[in-house]
Amino acid sequence: MQVVKTVVEIRGLRQKLKGTVGFVPTMGYLHEGHLALVKQAKQEDSAVIVSIYVNPTQFGPREDFAAYPRDLDRDIELLRKEGTDIVFVPLDDEIYPREFSSWVDVEKVTERLEGASRPEHFRGVATVVAKLFNIVQPTRAYFGQKDAQQVVVIKRMVADLNMNLEVAVVPTVRESDGLAMSSRNIHLSPKERQAAIILFKALTLAQRLWRSGEKDAEKIRRQMTALIRKEPLAQIDYVSIADAQTLEELNSLDRPAVASLAVRIGKTRLIDDMPLA
Ligand code: AMP
Repeated sequence: MQVVKTVVEIRGLRQKLKGTVGFVPTMGYLHEGHLALVKQAKQEDSAVIVSIYVNPTQFGPREDFAAYPRDLDRDIELLRKEGTDIVFVPLDDEIYPREFSSWVDVEKVTERLEGASRPEHFRGVATVVAKLFNIVQPTRAYFGQKDAQQVVVIKRMVADLNMNLEVAVVPTVRESDGLAMSSRNIHLSPKERQAAIILFKALTLAQRLWRSGEKDAEKIRRQMTALIRKEPLAQIDYVSIADAQTLEELNSLDRPAVASLAVRIGKTRLIDDMPLA
């Protein structure tokens, strides 16, 4: 496994690869969720490239960029065990040189949900992912269902800008009690960790109602909200039942949908979702 820091180096290595190249962009502090993406790439592609970069432009001014957890040595060991071929760990000025001034702005699907709560977030995500795609030139790029809106945004960008790659989506990996794995879970105190199960409980409630034939999306949102409100440590940011493609809120569950939510547990903001399709 090779670990490289510069665009020149990764381009050199990329040119020598034969067959398909699977690419997994991450912000590091890896867990089984990230590794599921790597495993799937390993199965489907001839070579696997993983990037680790905590992208400053996708964090808002009051967000946790500085406090975002980092452990590069451990990440590299985990990736080695998975049989990763190349790890790209760019330095900041490699991605954003001083004169940097081009941005990728995906409209509409970025307006709601995470986009409403985090105004600059998806501009940062789309820009860094577009840059990484240009640098790595993958055949397929792997993203987690855990960040449902991110998947919609990336697919939109790839289609709109005719990027020559396939976007693969990997199901969310969860702890045994249902909490979606996330690098941010490390910030939860033991009490908060217990309380955090409420996200999964609300999503399984939505799934249960939907499976039993409930079509009224507002009824489901209301029941999810009521359930989360019973957890004293939880503060709701949003609860959504939306069209899986456009992310517009639904009145009636008459097409593929996704239940998603953002909830603050103490100071930690967690997101999760469940496809209803
Ligand atoms: P991040 O490092 O948080 O930017 O995540 C990198 C990639 O891993 C993204 O495509 C995430 O959606 C994906 N990911 C993060 N957590 C999980 C999880 N629990 N299950 C599946 N994929 C995940």
